[in-house]
Amino acid sequence: MKKSIIVASILSAFSIGSLTGISFSKAELERSTQEHNVMSTNWFQTSAENKALQIQIYNQATKELAETMKKRKENEKLVNKPSKPAAVVLDIDETILDNSPDTAWSIKNNTSYPQGWDKWIRMAKAELIPGAKDFLLAAKKMNVDIFYITNRSEKTRNDTIRNMKLHHLPNVDSNHLFFKTDTGQKGPRQDEIAKTHDIVMLVGDNTNDLSDIFYRADLKTRKENVDKIAKELGVKYIQLPNPMYGDWEDAIYQYKMRKTDDEKAMDRYNSLQPMN
Ligand SMILES: [Mg+2]
Repeated sequence: MKKSIIVASILSAFSIGSLTGISFSKAELERSTQEHNVMSTNWFQTSAENKALQIQIYNQATKELAETMKKRKENEKLVNKPSKPAAVVLDIDETILDNSPDTAWSIKNNTSYPQGWDKWIRMAKAELIPGAKDFLLAAKKMNVDIFYITNRSEKTRNDTIRNMKLHHLPNVDSNHLFFKTDTGQKGPRQDEIAKTHDIVMLVGDNTNDLSDIFYRADLKTRKENVDKIAKELGVKYIQLPNPMYGDWEDAIYQYKMRKTDDEKAMDRYNSLQPMN
């Protein structure tokens, strides 16, 4: 992506007033700084493969949770002592709620997060990730306490609750919802829950939702750390797909999110691993 082309294109776009998001020509697509996200958003929004994968993951998680609860009961009998209540901890965005319309809006308006995000949250109309609600209701039936840890900001609390209640999800209350603190690291909030509960399962689209060992880790370390939890993946740690954004992308930019669009594009190209 050449800077001169982008600058000329943006100037031209403004001159014809076409950055409205209403129409979207081929020329606009070529100059969109978000063009790289078209395929991932297409896949997320339109593919049967994504829907199948999401349902498959939640189906499997339900089975594993039932198995874990069965083992816990057997163990309680064996030691003749009740254990702490079991808890499942889930992320919200792209784990429970589908915010891909916000990403699609960003592409069409040639802008990026956080532009548009607040407006989207206030609309409180995100649909559910397929499989999520069935899993939550099954967990509730198994007497597992459900907690949500999100990196949405505290100021989104009311709108987030409104959106989740729209779908009649369980445990949507202040005791079970943890918003972003002064850090996006989720470990400290998981520790809070672990004071009173046994966290038997963590679900998220970002590895950072599963364990702090991934927090701000570089690309190589992130993959190496998957090996550290490999035996518990699909059992305790449930990973959902998100090709649109995530720490996997931030790591490509060395977490320097203030890089320019050109610098980020260069980082993406440089992280490709072609045959040689
Ligand atoms: Mg998420």
